[in-house]
Amino acid sequence: MSATIFSKIIAREIPADIVFEDEVCLAFRDIAPKAPVHVLLIPRQPLAKLGDASAGDQAMLGHLLVKAGEIARQQGCGDAFRVVINSGAGAGQEVFHLHLHILGGRDLGWPPG
Ligand code: 5GP
Repeated sequence: MSATIFSKIIAREIPADIVFEDEVCLAFRDIAPKAPVHVLLIPRQPLAKLGDASAGDQAMLGHLLVKAGEIARQQGCGDAFRVVINSGAGAGQEVFHLHLHILGGRDLGWPPG
């Protein structure tokens, strides 16, 4: 997988507003937020997109989902938040390093479009 802007955030080569990190993942505020809370949660180990995941990624993916809920609560979303993963350019993915969008802090419409 080629390096992306998110690899540079992990390496601290470019700044980001980091709200959480552990040995598996890193979470930081989206530079162009779509809601009052808009955090991106990424694995340190790069995986270009969810559609490329395999059995060996199960533990990491489960970890990301558990942390997404914790981060949403820590950011004040209460019990209402949304997790979005765009997988592939046709789904709106622009950065090809897997990331979960954690969105909250306002009413979220459905369908998302
Ligand atoms: P995607 O469209 O790939 O699902 O989402 C990529 C997200 O990364 C977008 O919401 C975009 O605003 C965010 N983003 C792109 N470049 C940067 C950056 O340099 N810093 C931060 N914090 N977010 C970024």
